[in-house]
Amino acid sequence: MAKRRLVLTFPPEVVERPVVAMLVKDYDIITNILRAEIHEGEIGRMLVELDGQAKRIREAVKHLEELGVEVEDAITDIELDDTECISCGACTAVCLPGALKVEGPGWELELDKQRCILCGLCVDACPLQLITVKF
Ligand code: SF4
Ligand code: SF4
Repeated sequence: MAKRRLVLTFPPEVVERPVVAMLVKDYDIITNILRAEIHEGEIGRMLVELDGQAKRIREAVKHLEELGVEVEDAITDIELDDTECISCGACTAVCLPGALKVEGPGWELELDKQRCILCGLCVDACPLQLITVKF
């Protein structure tokens, strides 16, 4: 048996398909959705943990990719060096779940790790390279 934590990025046309049910039914994989940001007609992201036979997980990943789902290994955490942060908001623009926000009255960057789906997109968005990932 094997376990993999993956970030799935769904194009809008795939968002409403029962992909998770397919993993369970067709590939015999226990699928634990850890976090998700899914809205009708928009790009969706989901952090999932798959538990099953390694071969079946590989097959399922291949099938997901054939459906147009982007599949990436999940990072385990992100780290923000907020001592140097200038609250420019560049990282907030790529954070779909709204885990990174710059809002009044203080207009300082805030990171809500409860909302973070560990997609890693904010890492490249920061011009000062203040966000790093842990694998
Ligand atoms: S990794 Fe960064 S961009 Fe992705 S959800 Fe977490 S804070 Fe937002
Ligand atoms: S992109 Fe970098 S400097 Fe700008 S708000 Fe985000 S962490 Fe701070």
